[in-house]
Amino acid sequence: MSKLKIAIQKSGRLSEKSIQLIEECGIKLPNGGGKLITESTNFPVEVLFLRDDDIPEYVDQGVADIGVIGENVLLESRKNITIVEKLGFSACRLSLAVPKEIDYPDLAYFNGKKVATSYPNILSDYFEQNDINATIEFISGSVEIAPGIGLAAGICDIVSSGSTLLSNGLKEVEKVMSSQAVLVTSGNLEAEKQAILNKLLFRIRAVQKAKESKYILLNAPNEKLDKIVKILPGMNSPTILPLAKEGWSSLHSVIGEDKFWDVIDALKDAGAEGILVVPIEKMIV
Ligand code: ATP
Ligand code: MG
Repeated sequence: MSKLKIAIQKSGRLSEKSIQLIEECGIKLPNGGGKLITESTNFPVEVLFLRDDDIPEYVDQGVADIGVIGENVLLESRKNITIVEKLGFSACRLSLAVPKEIDYPDLAYFNGKKVATSYPNILSDYFEQNDINATIEFISGSVEIAPGIGLAAGICDIVSSGSTLLSNGLKEVEKVMSSQAVLVTSGNLEAEKQAILNKLLFRIRAVQKAKESKYILLNAPNEKLDKIVKILPGMNSPTILPLAKEGWSSLHSVIGEDKFWDVIDALKDAGAEGILVVPIEKMIV
């Protein structure tokens, strides 16, 4: 029987979350660090551990069927591979930065300047689209030191909190792209592998949906239930169960994580008591 080959980053910012995602889908991986390839014991997948920059090539060549990479690496690779699912972790952006004392006017500032980056393809497309004529200096790491050592007037690099820029005396001036981890495929899988991928995607979506939602339980006097139900933006109509205490009920519902803090005060004001909010592990909708 064929197995779906999944390429993930061997060691870096995506590694832990990629393994976590696989495990949350109920796919068991044997422990044993340092291996290049490992097989699940309970699901037809093999996991390949690679440098993230190599994953687009491996997926494009069909050595791996799918891969987990940042959108930045995908776009930089210029490979004809497609995103099957956005995974919602490792959010960051690719930005242009200049020394903080520069009185930055607008993008035209970069005309005739040298910019250091590990993302020459993305940056040259960006400059071209914006009619900027700059020189791109490729460096593979520690890009943020380039202005300080006189190599470039600015840089284009990954930013999340901005603290690395700050500690190198730089400031972010333009966002070139937003990025998050994505699942990619070359798009020409044989039927058996596609079926495994579909199964995997079903599980990934159930895990992601669950992360966005909370299960809420509360108690309320029966006469207040109508009002409380109206406040709750539930997945469906809530479950209402009688309590042993006469005239009281327990109400159960699912609520979006982002909505929770908006409705909590309204629920209390409407007479809800003993409110419990619990995580959901998987959610099939
Ligand atoms: P490799 O050795 O595998 O080539 P790397 O050094 O190129 O690793 P990492 O620094 O581990 O890469 O980053 C991997 C990916 O994680 C990046 O391509 C980006 O999508 C994302 N990422 C990078 N920095 C951050 C950050 N500060 N916050 C969130 N995500 C980030
Ligand atoms: Mg890399």
